[in-house]
Amino acid sequence: MNIPFIDLKQQYLEIKEQVNDSILKVLEHGQYILGPEIRDLESDLAQFIQVQHVLTCSSGTDALLLALMAHDIGPGDAVFTTPFTFIATAEVISLLGATPVFVDIDEKTFNIDPQLLEEKIACVSKDLNAKAIIAVDLFGLCADYDALESVAKKHNLLLIEDAAQSLGAVYKGRKAGSFGDVAATSFYPAKPLGAYGDGGAVFTNDTSMYEKMVSLRVHGQGKNKYDNVRLGLNARMDTMQAAVLLHKLRIFPGEIEKRQEIANTYTQNLQDHVTTPFIPDDCTSTWAQYSILSDKRDVIQQHLKEQGIPTCIFYIKPLHVQDAFSTLEYKPGDFPISENAAQKIISLPMHPYLKEDDQQRIIAAIISAVNK
Ligand SMILES: *Cc1c(COP(=O)(O)O)cnc(C)c1O
Repeated sequence: MNIPFIDLKQQYLEIKEQVNDSILKVLEHGQYILGPEIRDLESDLAQFIQVQHVLTCSSGTDALLLALMAHDIGPGDAVFTTPFTFIATAEVISLLGATPVFVDIDEKTFNIDPQLLEEKIACVSKDLNAKAIIAVDLFGLCADYDALESVAKKHNLLLIEDAAQSLGAVYKGRKAGSFGDVAATSFYPAKPLGAYGDGGAVFTNDTSMYEKMVSLRVHGQGKNKYDNVRLGLNARMDTMQAAVLLHKLRIFPGEIEKRQEIANTYTQNLQDHVTTPFIPDDCTSTWAQYSILSDKRDVIQQHLKEQGIPTCIFYIKPLHVQDAFSTLEYKPGDFPISENAAQKIISLPMHPYLKEDDQQRIIAAIISAVNK
């Protein structure tokens, strides 16, 4: 039997009746765009994350775009982020004409290294204005926000949290999505909290920024959609996705616990054979991915594949060597920690419905692969 990498069907079976009912309700009330479920979801998320304002939107990418546009990031601006992330994090910077400036990651957490960030800020090109940091909470673990908030403050930089993978995680008592000036998340189906299509949200405690993003979400609207005070986007979430997410948010805390139990089982059984994830004190991950490092990564992947166990490699090609960013003129060797991770990392099946038998099968397969 093949094990799914992420089992969304099993989750659907658990919540089928409630989700079907809520989707039907949307079909019947007919407010397919910005219907009442959107506001309900925004208020439930604000409660869950403990932030003042939540604005749902069309995707995690658009959430990042809204955050940057709300701060007028554009040509001549430098935005610091890591090359070891999904393309969207840096893509939005370039789409607005600003320049992504990459900073290498911490080798244990895979998140931006605050020390290297300070060094990069100090030597940013004279043609650029250092404007913002996008810190990514990779694989569901928050970046080091104590250090990042102090760097941002010292250099007067905007701090944006890319919480696309980390909703549900905790850093020193604070929830992912509550860090920096503004945070962005994604409800892409495979994320820890996923919809049945695309979706995203921004979180902030800054009321004027929130109001600007409300306008940007609908074509830079002023008093209404036909009064346009700036250029914006069509970046609304569909009401149906909100209806789905309202239910998923209810079962989410239980799902995070199950993810944690599976991660514990993986770590206990694998830590003598491969490098298992490092979680700093006072932090919990939401385990968007359970990623291990091994010199025998390719052997592990092949061996697991033969046994019907899927794995993924996030990220096999860091952003600084992607053709899409060739104009930035980076070269292999510029970010050795990211490049080393790209060669050794592999992510294992992880979802709240992963059965104990399957966990044991995966563990046994990895141990036999590394001892081959
Ligand atoms: C998924 C993801 C995004 C983009 O989210 P979409 O909803 O797919 O647009 C951005 N950043 C990171 C780190 C992601 O993992």
